[in-house]
Amino acid sequence: MGRNIPIGAGEFPKKIEIVDIDGLKQSYEKLKKELIKSKEKQIKLIDIKNNIEWRCANCSRFLDRLVNQEQIEGYLVDFMIEKFKICHKCRKRNYFKINKNGEILFLMLAENNKKI
Ligand SMILES: [Zn+2]
Repeated sequence: MGRNIPIGAGEFPKKIEIVDIDGLKQSYEKLKKELIKSKEKQIKLIDIKNNIEWRCANCSRFLDRLVNQEQIEGYLVDFMIEKFKICHKCRKRNYFKINKNGEILFLMLAENNKKI
């Protein structure tokens, strides 16, 4: 095992050695569950008896059909780790969020990668 090299704030290590991959995976799963729990209340508000069509916020190309809570939870976790849905037509990165009324707002990343 290499020794730990302290790095200052704002610096990023060039290389990271992961010594406990299983532990890391477990932590990730735990984190994911926590993240989902924090969203569950909002997700429950969504009426998903009818499929929800997700279309690109820029060009309206069909992206996916939202059919159940599990799938929506999966997407919300993806967005938190910056995994967005890229439109095959215009290449915009799409995501969605749920407002406190339980409505899904379909959005896309701006050119500067900021959420709008
Ligand atoms: Zn598009």
